[in-house]
Amino acid sequence: MARPSGISARPEQPAEFDVVIVGAGFAGLYAVHRLRELGLAVRCYDAASGVGGTWFWNRYPGARCDVESMDYSYSFSPELEQEWSWTERYPAQPEILRYLNHVADRFDLRRDIQLETRVTGASYDETAGRWEVRTGQGDVARARFLVIATGCLSAARIPDFPGLGSFQGATYHTADWPDEGVDFTGKRVGVIGTGSSGTQAIPLIAAQAAHTTVFQRTANFSLPARNRPLDREYERALKARYQEHREFVRYTPNGTARRNSDRSALEASAEERRTEYESRWQEGGGGFIGAFNDLLKNQDANDTAAEFLRSKIREIVRDPRVADLLSPRGFPVGSKRVTVDTDYYATFNRPDVTLVDVHSAPIEEITPTGIRTADASYELDAIVFATGFDAITGAVLAIDPRGRGGLHLRDKWSAGPRTYLGLVTAGFPNLFLVTGPGSPSVISNMVVSIEQHVDFIADHLVYLNKNGLEVTEADAAAEDAWMDHVNEVAAGTLFVKGNSWYVGANVPGKPRIFMPYVGGVGVYRRKCEDIAASDYPGFRTT
Ligand code: NAP
Repeated sequence: MARPSGISARPEQPAEFDVVIVGAGFAGLYAVHRLRELGLAVRCYDAASGVGGTWFWNRYPGARCDVESMDYSYSFSPELEQEWSWTERYPAQPEILRYLNHVADRFDLRRDIQLETRVTGASYDETAGRWEVRTGQGDVARARFLVIATGCLSAARIPDFPGLGSFQGATYHTADWPDEGVDFTGKRVGVIGTGSSGTQAIPLIAAQAAHTTVFQRTANFSLPARNRPLDREYERALKARYQEHREFVRYTPNGTARRNSDRSALEASAEERRTEYESRWQEGGGGFIGAFNDLLKNQDANDTAAEFLRSKIREIVRDPRVADLLSPRGFPVGSKRVTVDTDYYATFNRPDVTLVDVHSAPIEEITPTGIRTADASYELDAIVFATGFDAITGAVLAIDPRGRGGLHLRDKWSAGPRTYLGLVTAGFPNLFLVTGPGSPSVISNMVVSIEQHVDFIADHLVYLNKNGLEVTEADAAAEDAWMDHVNEVAAGTLFVKGNSWYVGANVPGKPRIFMPYVGGVGVYRRKCEDIAASDYPGFRTT
């Protein structure tokens, strides 16, 4: 690709910037804008051929956000939020991608973004106080600060199935979907994975394919999205108080306008619970989990929600054997990400859809003509891997930054990620993570958490500059205390009981650590505000 002049530099002639930003999704785009406003010279790299991050890659049929559009958008510009108009309650991938392209143009961000350039390594030069960043294209850039904005769900993974390369049909991963789409008409399609991506894609694949076989290892709790065109009156009313609404959302438990009850499920009668669950089910979306205040804390309370959701599956799915297989058991609702779908369960009433239990009979091999499990073989023309990501740490460790004394982040995090506030990690000066492990990140509305982190980083850089400081770094003791706090808060919830990607359970050999901070978006924000207002305790600055 031809690069705009002045952007590229070869190893013998490194380019100098104040900040290198990795990733041009929601986080990277805002970081370019915010840090450039401070007068800093920034360079943003992204491996993709366009901006958009996760919304660039995840083009699978049905890809849609499970946070409502008017909340899943930037709040930093009142003009932007007034002029942009979403079409649906939950935005679909193409619309989010259009929005992010609009943002890139509107704020003239592209001149500082170099696409089709994967960052492959970064090392801190202690003598010069500079990060040296290397790319797969041979670029070398030097910068005082490195901001890793690679996203929590960007390192897609396909399990290491024997025979993977032997399949003669087409294979796809939901997070690396062809630009031009895929036509499954007349095809026998196998889908492996029933998380958020599989649950969204399966109804649309099934509507097109000759036959769809769904390979399910763990049944997930799924809620109907009840997506619909955005009500214009609702939009007008919200826009009239948009900034006030944003400020409210910033201090909520998860960064959305979800209604959170202050009542225990166990204080309510069975009839009251049923009424409340039914009303949230009818409302659609992830608001179900806010029905009572102890659903993520108390197993007995959670059991009532789980049983309600299983009863819904039995109502929708006609074949009792299939309904039973689709009914999640053995982990609390919400401890694995609850999926939000359109017609997922009803899809299993189709005569051309087969559900295969690969928990009791695991996939043993991908063969040239299909998939062989422990008890049967399935002939297929195409396989869709909806098998998820090496979440939260995967993309950061693919860069494997090297800090003081050449320390590899991969070694430092060998027993699990360690950070202070999910923003910085001891031994890696002037390196910031946006929505890193130990911050609310994936347990929150990502856009709210991204803006908060980028603003924190920007304010911190202003502080350093004002005080003539060159280097900032997590204090090791503060990091230990923060990790203890993250673990303690998680241990008081049911989150730790699920074998989820939140704990790295989906990647063989990955250390089992509950990675996000579940103390709440508002609580976390206040902690960060207090730290910023008190000259950044926990940061070693020189
Ligand atoms: P995921 O939730 O990790 O789901 C991966 C699926 O693949 C699971 O059903 C998993 O089963 C299965 N799987 C993995 N390895 C397997 C194996 N060896 N054999 C059989 N099955 C296997 O990934 P995802 O669906 O891509 O979603 C990841 C996250 O991205 C979501 O939780 C969400 O945060 C985000 N996302 C959001 C949206 C949205 O906003 N609506 C849409 C898509 C994704 P097990 O459960 O047994 O491991």
